[in-house]
Amino acid sequence: MFDNLSQRLSGILDGLTRRGALSATDVDTAMREVRRALLEADVALDVARSFIERVRERAVGVDVIKSVTPGQMVVKIVHDELVTTLGSDAQAIDLNAPAPVAIMMVGLQGSGKTTTTAKIAKRLTDLGKRKVLMASLDTRRPAAMEQLAVLGKQVEVDTLPIVQGQTPPQIAKRAIEAAKLGSYDVVILDTAGRITLDEAMMAEAADVKRAADPHEVLLVADALTGQDAVNLARSFDERVGLTGIVMTRVDGDGRGGAALSMRAVTGKPIKLIGTGEKMDALETFDPARIAGRILG
Ligand code: GDP
Repeated sequence: MFDNLSQRLSGILDGLTRRGALSATDVDTAMREVRRALLEADVALDVARSFIERVRERAVGVDVIKSVTPGQMVVKIVHDELVTTLGSDAQAIDLNAPAPVAIMMVGLQGSGKTTTTAKIAKRLTDLGKRKVLMASLDTRRPAAMEQLAVLGKQVEVDTLPIVQGQTPPQIAKRAIEAAKLGSYDVVILDTAGRITLDEAMMAEAADVKRAADPHEVLLVADALTGQDAVNLARSFDERVGLTGIVMTRVDGDGRGGAALSMRAVTGKPIKLIGTGEKMDALETFDPARIAGRILG
């Protein structure tokens, strides 16, 4: 992720640091190049624009231009603003609620929702030795329910038994009841996706949310879909309400624009990133570390 952007920014900022004294024009020229690099990395236009504006405002300050190492100060400002854009602090999944804590997963079909559900379940059971129950609410695709059961066996996490003929909200309620009876700490609800953003999916997700009253609603979004992922996040947040985002396929995403834009556009934190197909390929999204990675 961010390989191209990282190279481009290093080139631009190295040029500044080598220069010694900086004029406001030098900063302006560099910022135009940074803006172009962000847009080529598929960062949303508004996000790129306000990012540049914030950096420029701080960088043309008298203290920077007159300082002994102005270039390095600009690099630090770019770093700080990247961290701000990406969301400041790393945010873990919030389990601070009475058990069973319900986590609802939403997103398009094929985005990695079921895989991520199992990865999160594995992580929670591994780390905190929490007892987790997973339930598939995908009544339209029996194969999706089977897939969650198979992954559950693989990561040794229980899945709710499949009962035919129930609606997604009914399954959600049954999952929560079963979690209460079985003294589970966490119940993860894997809702049905669709191929594209459509009203039926949103309405169903909203119904499930009303029935389950989840503590976390996590959007699973494919990083490779770039701007579409950003629009998806905005729509889901407006219609259903999100508490966080999980970006998948970060391992295949050379540009990283979606990651940079999502927090800024939705205000919701990226909590986790998927970095591969394996069950342990899930990482905490740490803005400071990612900003460091981008600036090399
Ligand atoms: P769903 O339809 O949203 O539930 O998607 P799935 O969980 O079935 O995932 C679709 C495909 O994406 C599967 O082949 C997963 O192994 C793969 N996948 C999921 N997350 C990642 C990821 O972070 N990186 C990579 N490379 N593949 C992933």
